Amino acid sequence: MARFTFYSGINEIGGNKILLEDRDQRLFLDFGFPYKRHKLFYEEYLKPRGGAGLLDPLAMGLIPPLEGIYRDDLVTSGLWQQFQDAILYRKLEQLDGVLLSHAHLDHSGHISFLRDNVPIYTTITTAFIAKAMQDSGKSDFDQQVCYFNPTMRECPTDWKQAAFLASSSAKQQRQFCIADTDREALSPEAIQFWNRGFWEKTAKQKELVSCPLSGHSGCSFNLRCFPVDHSIPGACAWGIETSSGWFIYSGDLRLHGKRAELTQRFIEEAARLHPKVLVLEGTNVLRETNVAEHEVYENGIKAIANSSGLVIADFSPRDVDRLLTFLQIARDTGRKLAILPKDAYLLKTMRLLEPEIPDIAQEGSLFIYQETTASRSPAHWLRNIFREYDSKTVLANDVKSAQDQFILCFSFFDLNELPSICPKPGGLYVYSSSEPHDEEQEIDFRRLHNWLKRYEFRGFGLPVESNSEWQIPDGEKGLHASGHACGSDLLKIAQEIRPEVLIPVHSEHPNFYTERLQGGSIDVILPTLGRTIEI
Ligand SMILES: [Zn+2]
Repeated sequence: MARFTFYSGINEIGGNKILLEDRDQRLFLDFGFPYKRHKLFYEEYLKPRGGAGLLDPLAMGLIPPLEGIYRDDLVTSGLWQQFQDAILYRKLEQLDGVLLSHAHLDHSGHISFLRDNVPIYTTITTAFIAKAMQDSGKSDFDQQVCYFNPTMRECPTDWKQAAFLASSSAKQQRQFCIADTDREALSPEAIQFWNRGFWEKTAKQKELVSCPLSGHSGCSFNLRCFPVDHSIPGACAWGIETSSGWFIYSGDLRLHGKRAELTQRFIEEAARLHPKVLVLEGTNVLRETNVAEHEVYENGIKAIANSSGLVIADFSPRDVDRLLTFLQIARDTGRKLAILPKDAYLLKTMRLLEPEIPDIAQEGSLFIYQETTASRSPAHWLRNIFREYDSKTVLANDVKSAQDQFILCFSFFDLNELPSICPKPGGLYVYSSSEPHDEEQEIDFRRLHNWLKRYEFRGFGLPVESNSEWQIPDGEKGLHASGHACGSDLLKIAQEIRPEVLIPVHSEHPNFYTERLQGGSIDVILPTLGRTIEI
């Protein structure tokens, strides 16, 4: 009998950590960062202490107390005695791998804590995006997905309290097993990208391996990897053959995006396996319809074509489809799209795998905005980007002197550049992302409105607050295509795959499935935290 234990991702959107055990084999389906639980205790200035190793995430219930799966270099000698009486405590002798569905941190972030010999099975695009995000991001100790700095427990100079001190030079790379691409098919530049940063003597490199999924020596499960469409490239669903039959895990998906045919093919192939179980996401179960990406283009171009001042477009930078939508709008309105260096780095990385992604050097409408820095030596990757695309660099002054010629890809967190740009009154702020989900985001939205007022920008597609509800004004909707299928599409996915059992995950309304599938041939089991479901 196969067994499922849900350690997070229940009654919340994200943070999936699902343990699947069959005979003596064990896999985790994703090992994500649980934002909702994290925000219960922490904020920007109150974070888990990197110097305390595993103590803080274990004590606050951010990771399950499973002795044996975490990095040894983050464990103090008495640590596990402290958690042996915890309700969810177990000692696991071995973990055969993590099946990673995509590179959003709510699915991947806590891989950071796992032993480095746990293989991460995923697609080549997810592996590369995860590395690009880590290379160009802040990469706190609890979000080091592709590589990490091993720590030593010692006392800092002039300090009595010992801490887990990360070595500054030694980096350890994780073992990624690529399920959808043969390593031999990758270009030397792609291999070079994966290994960049691991040439130092002290660094421990692990080759990227491509894995024939069935009968792979590292994993005795028979696995299937199904590419699906989501708001980040490279997303996949998984099929795992167990002694009870096929188990399918959807990851995050949609049927209304540019790559909808991938999700459609997944549904057909998964149905053919006559699965026992489908673990299905339910982020947008209550949404009735979807906005498609081409509508984002149509609505976006209408707003921007009528604008005579500076345009700021706010969307998720990892959503490469959205970036390409705004690039097309820039071309069609005769403007220049100025992206941030981290977005340029991601685009350049994606091009290593998909040659149809535009080459920044050749693309006439694409430029890179150089932010003001207070650092004498900006990071390596950043200097390399501006060295490589020197002629494509745009400074605040360039934008200031030609405001009607730019679309700046800024989010709320980049607005502190505006004093250098001095936008003239009458600029347009196009909001192409999701609405605020919690109090902290609402506070940020209020600040965003204050910025726009200060610089006399007009918001478009931007939620406004009225009677403590945030709503996009009428006539300004249709600027964001969600990464998640709506309720009717999710039911269609469930009904066409026709599992014997459906287990909802990644949803604040898992009862939707119980109510809507009642009386049919699919049993719905609602998971609870830490309880093992045997099937
Ligand atoms: Zn996602």
